Amino acid sequence: MRNDLRNPNEPIAPASSQFVSAASLRARLDWFNKLRWGAAFGVMAVVLIAGVGLKAPIEVRGLMLTGAVLLLLNTAYELRNRRFKAVDIAVELRLVKVQMVCDLLALTVLLNLSGGVENPLLFLYVIHVIIASLLFKGREIFQIAWLAIFLFTADVFGEYFGLLPHHHLPTAGEVAHELSFVLMTLGSFWLVILFCAYVGALIMKHNRSIKDELAARQAVLLAEDRAKTDFFRFVTHEIKSPVNTAQSGVETALELGGESMAPSVRDVLERAIGRLKQATKIIQDLADLTRGGILKEENLTEVDFNDLVSAAVDDQRDLAARSSLAMNVLLPDPPIILTTIRNMAETIVANLVNNSIRYNREGGRVSVRLVDTGKRVRLVVEDQGIGIAEEEQDLIFDEFYRSTEARETSTLGTGLGLAIVRKFVEELGGTIEVDSTVGRGSTFTVTLPRKSRKRRR
Ligand code: ADP
Repeated sequence: MRNDLRNPNEPIAPASSQFVSAASLRARLDWFNKLRWGAAFGVMAVVLIAGVGLKAPIEVRGLMLTGAVLLLLNTAYELRNRRFKAVDIAVELRLVKVQMVCDLLALTVLLNLSGGVENPLLFLYVIHVIIASLLFKGREIFQIAWLAIFLFTADVFGEYFGLLPHHHLPTAGEVAHELSFVLMTLGSFWLVILFCAYVGALIMKHNRSIKDELAARQAVLLAEDRAKTDFFRFVTHEIKSPVNTAQSGVETALELGGESMAPSVRDVLERAIGRLKQATKIIQDLADLTRGGILKEENLTEVDFNDLVSAAVDDQRDLAARSSLAMNVLLPDPPIILTTIRNMAETIVANLVNNSIRYNREGGRVSVRLVDTGKRVRLVVEDQGIGIAEEEQDLIFDEFYRSTEARETSTLGTGLGLAIVRKFVEELGGTIEVDSTVGRGSTFTVTLPRKSRKRRR
């Protein structure tokens, strides 16, 4: 089974009455630019085919000119978007408005040159109102709707009263001067536009309130998570020194007692040391787990990942030998150099290799591979051990989770190792996946970027 892990700390978006951020607005602007390219080239192609190819009596020059102006404007928008980063939402919103007004003007000119009220494409205004409802809030949506209504009504009456030239559409009847038709069309046009603006505003208001509620709930969850982490940090800090003192006290007692010590007393003290070492491991794991925010430029160093992996494997060869395990290591040549945080990378590798040894079968094999995939590096740690049931594969990355089988196989375990691995992998900008079959073995695959950088929150 694959287990792609998401980052639970990634905020949805700050709570706000605005539905968009500067970046998401820019992404939409880029999308509108693409639509505009299509629209402008489409108009020009149709005009060329109909007007020049089929010699239909249409306003070829005027229509081509409007298409060209649209192309020019779009080029300017594109250049501006490439040149300047989207940082200020107010600036981006202003730009969207300007673009929308220009689009509405261009559409009105195009309609004027192609039949005005006779042209069924007049409902293209609706698209603008829908787009406005995706980006703006109530009043602004209606501003766009009223502008569309004003422009089209002005054109239709302008043509009707002879104030503007009327370019008859060859496929339509001469209806631009029939008052009943003009009024009927304008009436339904007003109705559709205002209805779209109303429904759009209503839907988006609802969506925004859902998003705000989600953001508020997430803020509460994040605060609770932070409080839990602070508590862990406090506890680990406070119990570290008494545990260390107790451990060194028992060790000293053992040393001082020497051979004169009764075997039963020695046995009790040795078991006490074993338990205290376990407590120290838990404290260390908790300290690792609650460590955070250390991914800063100044903490990044160039690390020979080949060396780091071989050293981590060598450190655990004795442990592997106790279960007669074969350790295979496959490293790429030339070696992989990572820009990363050394001790985090060490902890990741050490924990995975340690698990592959502890949860292996007697005489089994551990294989550690490093694969260079260009911008990223893949670390694969494979064993032939007890495996992990499918329903548990999502749980093993949770703090303190240990499978029943693991608890029976190895009593020494905190259930924190993989939680730490996941946290560190994510902090370094990587991913972790597990693939496992019960009784056959497990494969953990970690992908890390060549250069870790601070995630943008
Ligand atoms: P620990 O090993 O201290 O219990 P981990 O967080 O490292 O804690 O692992 C959590 C659980 O995931 C383990 O208790 C075990 O059930 C399972 N697990 C981890 N690695 C392996 C592995 N290589 N093979 C089988 N089970 C594993």
